[in-house]
Amino acid sequence: MARYVGAVCRLCRREGMKLFLKGERCYTEKCAIEKRNFPPGQHGKTRRAKLAGYGVQLREKQKVKRMYGVLEDQFRRYFEAADRQKGITGEILLQLLERRLDNVIYRTGFATSRAQGRQLVRHGHFTVNGRRVDIPSYQVRPGDVVAVHTASQKNPSVEHAMEEVKGRGIPEWLQLDEAARSVRVASVPTREQINLPVQEQLIVELYSK
Ligand code: SF4
Repeated sequence: MARYVGAVCRLCRREGMKLFLKGERCYTEKCAIEKRNFPPGQHGKTRRAKLAGYGVQLREKQKVKRMYGVLEDQFRRYFEAADRQKGITGEILLQLLERRLDNVIYRTGFATSRAQGRQLVRHGHFTVNGRRVDIPSYQVRPGDVVAVHTASQKNPSVEHAMEEVKGRGIPEWLQLDEAARSVRVASVPTREQINLPVQEQLIVELYSK
């Protein structure tokens, strides 16, 4: 499965905001946005283009794509799936992205970033309803129980992540059982529970042209 393998801090600098792609580093002064918040490249320091219309919509889409580590084709498929459903398309789009298994692992605190969550899922460290699932894009549903696989209970990455993210909070739609290292999906997240500074309507406008 294709994924972006370039320097991720460049992506944050391009968007002019923290996208939290690097785990712990994002919360320290080593974060590139703290040190040099201007676009990458030779002319990045001297000019940040003033955007309007299409440019604003495009940047909003790129921002969300990059946050969730999804490439263009897959992102468009999420949009098309959201567009087919009844309701507010932008909100459904975000819900589909939030319900990805790698995102659930990250939100719960079993991984310090979505990228790490994705890798841990790929390596088979998690189960959904008791069955091993190694597909990062797997869509969880209300009632599902995601757990660290019994063979991975002492996985150092998971242990480290759980220690590291303590106190950062878990969204209400996820119910963590810390002792069992499992999380129950209580509901589909509402827009308020998806704590992201994005204007999803701009993405809908972009794809609806
Ligand atoms: Fe973005 Fe994290 Fe890099 Fe900061 S450290 S620029 S938030 S990926």
